[in-house]
Amino acid sequence: MFVPLLDLKAQLAAIRREVDEAIRKVLESGAFIQGAEVQEFEVEFAAYCGVPHAVSVGNGTDALILALRALGVGPGDEVIVPTFTFIATAECVVHVGAAPVFADVNLEDFNLDPASVQEKLTPRTRAIIPVHLFGHPADMDPLLRLAEERGLVILEDAAQAHGARYKGKRVGGLGHAAAFSFYPSKNLGAFGDGGMVVTRDARVAEKLRCLRNHGSAKEDKYRHKVVGYNSRLDTLQAAVLRVKLPHLDRWNAARDRWAEEYRKRLEGVDGLILPRPRPWAEHVYHLFVVRLAGRDRVAEALRRAGVSASIYYPACLHEQEAFPRAVGRGLSLPKASQAAREALALPLFAEMSRAQLEYVAETLVGSMGKLKVS
Ligand SMILES: *Cc1c(COP(=O)(O)O)cnc(C)c1O
Repeated sequence: MFVPLLDLKAQLAAIRREVDEAIRKVLESGAFIQGAEVQEFEVEFAAYCGVPHAVSVGNGTDALILALRALGVGPGDEVIVPTFTFIATAECVVHVGAAPVFADVNLEDFNLDPASVQEKLTPRTRAIIPVHLFGHPADMDPLLRLAEERGLVILEDAAQAHGARYKGKRVGGLGHAAAFSFYPSKNLGAFGDGGMVVTRDARVAEKLRCLRNHGSAKEDKYRHKVVGYNSRLDTLQAAVLRVKLPHLDRWNAARDRWAEEYRKRLEGVDGLILPRPRPWAEHVYHLFVVRLAGRDRVAEALRRAGVSASIYYPACLHEQEAFPRAVGRGLSLPKASQAAREALALPLFAEMSRAQLEYVAETLVGSMGKLKVS
């Protein structure tokens, strides 16, 4: 049996007619840039997150970059980010001229450890970017308290967590602003690139609208207040995302049910640590990530058996060549390094079948047993 990590074709098949109709409408309107669907989707996504403002942009990385700029983070500032995440969480900091400072994560939910953040604070610290990694919300309250005390800005990286909740509140409305990605494989994915910043601050939203469109105000296209960007969500992508958004909660609920099925079958397996949502978390399982020793060999065995288990992430950001040696290498961030050695994502998507899930669970248990003996 072959089990992909994610099956986007299965998702499309279920909504094909709605999608075709939405695309046809955009083609007939001819409004490919900033067409009506863009603003309609912004209004709907803001409501979904429970925040007043949403500004769409070209992709999730731009969402982070433009959000930092709109929040006033720039040269001379330090921004604390987790070292165990996708590189965009730190790239954005460099792109606005600030310095990323890498902090450790905890192994319960793979997210920023407030104690490590505390250790990384300096007089230059301006912002913190907690990531809701793999769909599990970060523990926001200690970070928000710290931000309040120190006058820091909190930018949520919610690229993997559309719809997740922290203490009953949707992610996106917890910090000063939040960045989402609509990369095709995300819980809410476009048919190409797309991103969004949401915020409760009207002034930040206004700055974002200006920045994404070459620094010009909507009313006055060829007057430029600042040097901005060309980073807009295509009308076609907005139309597709408008079709998908009403299905998101159902898809997330299906992910949750499959996670429960994995737990039923894998709980108590010697040497295997399963994801367990914290008491205050509503996890949306962007990825179902287990931990185990000998991860690389087990991943290889699974792949040989047709199971697309994947490694997120094989290396921490502080070890990446992309960042100056002084910034990262040589740091000791032991929990994150352990996560990078042990984390393995098992296939999980709304449309998967019970037979696929059972095959993954059996193959995993079998390969763990076999590899231990040999
Ligand atoms: C996907 C992702 C991004 C970037 O989104 P793009 O749309 O691919 O630019 C940022 N942060 C995290 C944690 C992500 O997973």
